[in-house]
Amino acid sequence: MSHVTRYLTFWVMVTASMFAVVVASFAIYVDMEMNADHAQSQRYDSLLLANELWHSSESLTKMARSYIVTGDPRYKQLFHEVLDIRDGKKPWTRSSLYSWDLAVYGDKLPQDQDGAAVPLLELVRKAAFGESETRLLEIAKKKSDELAKTEMEAMRLFDSAGPNAPEIRQKAKDMLLNPSYNQAKLAILQPISQFNSSMDARTAAAVKHSLDMAFLFRLIFIAVGLIWLYMLWRSYQSLRTLLGASPAVVHDQISRLGRGDFTHPPQQMNTHDDTVIAWICQTRRKLNEMSQAQANIEQQIRQRSEELERSEAHLKSIIDLSPVPKMLFDSRGQITGINAAFTRCFGYTLDDLPTLDAWQSKAYPDAAYRKWVMDTCQKHHSESLRNDDPFQPIEFRIVSKDGSIRIAIAEAVSIVHDTDGNITLAVFHDITDLRNAEVQLREAKERLEAAASAGIVGIWDWDVVNNRLVWDKVMYQLYGTREEDFGGAAYETWSSALHPEDREFAEDEIQAALKGEREYAPEFRVIWPDGSVHYLKAMSHTTFDPDGKPLRIVGVNYDLTEQKQIQQELDKMAFYDRLTNLPNRRLFEDRLYQTIALAQREQRKVSLLFIDLDKFKQVNDEKGHEAGDWLLQQVAKRIVQCLRVSDTAARLGGDEFVVLLPDIKVIEDATSIAEKIRLRLEKPFEYKEDQLLEISSSIGVSVYPDHADNPQDLLRFGDEAMYRAKKAGRNAVHVFEAANTATARISAAN
Ligand code: GH3
Ligand code: MG
Repeated sequence: MSHVTRYLTFWVMVTASMFAVVVASFAIYVDMEMNADHAQSQRYDSLLLANELWHSSESLTKMARSYIVTGDPRYKQLFHEVLDIRDGKKPWTRSSLYSWDLAVYGDKLPQDQDGAAVPLLELVRKAAFGESETRLLEIAKKKSDELAKTEMEAMRLFDSAGPNAPEIRQKAKDMLLNPSYNQAKLAILQPISQFNSSMDARTAAAVKHSLDMAFLFRLIFIAVGLIWLYMLWRSYQSLRTLLGASPAVVHDQISRLGRGDFTHPPQQMNTHDDTVIAWICQTRRKLNEMSQAQANIEQQIRQRSEELERSEAHLKSIIDLSPVPKMLFDSRGQITGINAAFTRCFGYTLDDLPTLDAWQSKAYPDAAYRKWVMDTCQKHHSESLRNDDPFQPIEFRIVSKDGSIRIAIAEAVSIVHDTDGNITLAVFHDITDLRNAEVQLREAKERLEAAASAGIVGIWDWDVVNNRLVWDKVMYQLYGTREEDFGGAAYETWSSALHPEDREFAEDEIQAALKGEREYAPEFRVIWPDGSVHYLKAMSHTTFDPDGKPLRIVGVNYDLTEQKQIQQELDKMAFYDRLTNLPNRRLFEDRLYQTIALAQREQRKVSLLFIDLDKFKQVNDEKGHEAGDWLLQQVAKRIVQCLRVSDTAARLGGDEFVVLLPDIKVIEDATSIAEKIRLRLEKPFEYKEDQLLEISSSIGVSVYPDHADNPQDLLRFGDEAMYRAKKAGRNAVHVFEAANTATARISAAN
């Protein structure tokens, strides 16, 4: 494009220079025209001055003659005024000398004398006339001044003659109308005429020269202008060549580029490679190609993103639905997803765990353990990167949201490359139950081994399919036999050792276990060869094949005989009060029934003493429950000390005691014992060092058959009598009063 550029530059420079020439020629042309105008105006001014001179002379003549004819003083005044103006004594009127003519013929005198007061001769001298021309006008002025003197003489003569001297007036008229006067006028007009001829000849030449020059420069200006237009056209041509198309087309193409419209390449243009339009075409073509390439790339990116989104959604749904706890996190440590199984297992939701840091501080609150977790994870991660191996799973203790500890095996997989780095899927296999079961199993095994080695538990293993029963040594001991005497271990042999009453039940339980309904765990009796009966307890576990067919039962037996005996002991103990070792209510009532029945048959009197301690609660409150217990034990002892062997003292509960006197003769026997007890209990009890516990008792006395004929009433009336003793002020013995019996019986009947 360089030679086109040079060509264009040349034409632009030439056109610019030519433009300067056009401007200069136009300025000269304008100057010439102004010169011509100046010459014309000089010519006009010169004519005007000469004319002014002649006109003033004519006006003086007219004024003088008019005055002499009319005697109107205005003409004389005007005459002097013209003289004054011409000599520079008064200013020139704006409307010049014609105003005097107007005044002569009756118009008003001119009032607007606002011009400068300059003598006419000075104006002549200031004008650029030649010396001879100035001289001619000076002569004319001089002649005119001389004639003005004659005219003034005539007017003076006219004024001096009065109305009765017409001859003098005629003489004055003759002075202005005689031939010498006309000669004098001619003498004025001649130099003016000569001046006009001379000046006309001179100024006409100057005007002609100026006009010629102006015409010449007009032609020059037109010629230069045409050349400049030609150069402009050539510059435009060069520009077009450079652009390769019209500026409008180039402008259109550039504005399309500016709008980013390169989707359609421009029409193939007939242009040289060096032109601007060709460059634009190429650029648009390239941009169009780039735009299409970009569109293709964008399309691919869109497709990839959609695929990625689909696969991510797919992955997310797989992760969400997975029963295994899973967590997704990115390379910045942001947790992007956790599945429902994760929340089920550890309790945390995504809101609880926005970041890995939050997870670590919650799941591993112990700082030292957390550090170990993080170091181990980092180590496994580095190893997997270095060896290109999968992440080696790690077992962690995780604190779940409710504070419970879960044990999980964690592994991490890098699954997707996002824009900022990796997304990692962490998978947690919850093995808490497995670990707990392992611990329990281990402990059970240890316990079993300990029990087996101590000879307490016998272990058996029954191969159901082949009906083979294997016993360890302890099992033989539990069945009171020896291996060699047992006659081959099998289901039938075992069954024959069972107590006949328990055999059916034990066999039913075995069948239920074989059907998978429940584990076999009955209690049953076996009869040893020596005839003794022993209680055994079995526990077992049945295994099945995938079809649910029983394969094997492994179990233990242990001896319950001793336990059963202890149980019987305990049952016995159920009749005695644990604290005082006195019979309890159950045993007491039993004895009461027996005693009443016996007394009924043997016609004896039986008395019941119902004892309740007074303000016993206070002891508990002030000295403590332990002191209360101790006191109850001491009270029991003291009561017993007041009785005979055949009498029964019992504790009904709380601070209530009863005494059964199975054989009294009269009521007083009973009241005296009651009184004896009251007095014994009234005495202070020495509790620990220096601490005395003081108490009293309220005792109600009821007697069979005097007050009641059955055990329940006897007990109730004793209670009522005790209640009355309390009401009467405590620390007293009250015998049930027969007067109340009716009421008591009535309320009992109800
Ligand atoms: P009252 O004079 O009216 O009989 O009043 P009290 O303070 O003796 O109280 P009440 O007989 O109504 O209740 C007996 C209290 O004995 C209630 C309970 O606090 C206490 N008590 C019950 N059983 C035991 C026990 O086994 N040991 C101890 N230390 N206190 C018991
Ligand atoms: Mg009491």
